[in-house]
Amino acid sequence: MSNSSKSSFIIKSLVCQTIGHKYIETRKITNHIHEYTCKHCGREVTENPTGNIELLTHKVREVNNNVADFFERKNRNVAI
Ligand SMILES: [Zn+2]
Repeated sequence: MSNSSKSSFIIKSLVCQTIGHKYIETRKITNHIHEYTCKHCGREVTENPTGNIELLTHKVREVNNNVADFFERKNRNVAI
């Protein structure tokens, strides 16, 4: 990572610290759970089953993959 891109990342993080993250939806897991990425700093979060926002770690992403898979299969069964 070059120095200039590193400093622009810091500036973007400062923007988020000041005005808050600007999340855009990147993936739908279920009707109630989505994954979001911050437009400014790239921070990834998701809703958990209790409706709270938590950091999208590798482990959480794996759980979401399983939930999405299950949800999709369940929907397909209903459609049939
Ligand atoms: Zn951010």
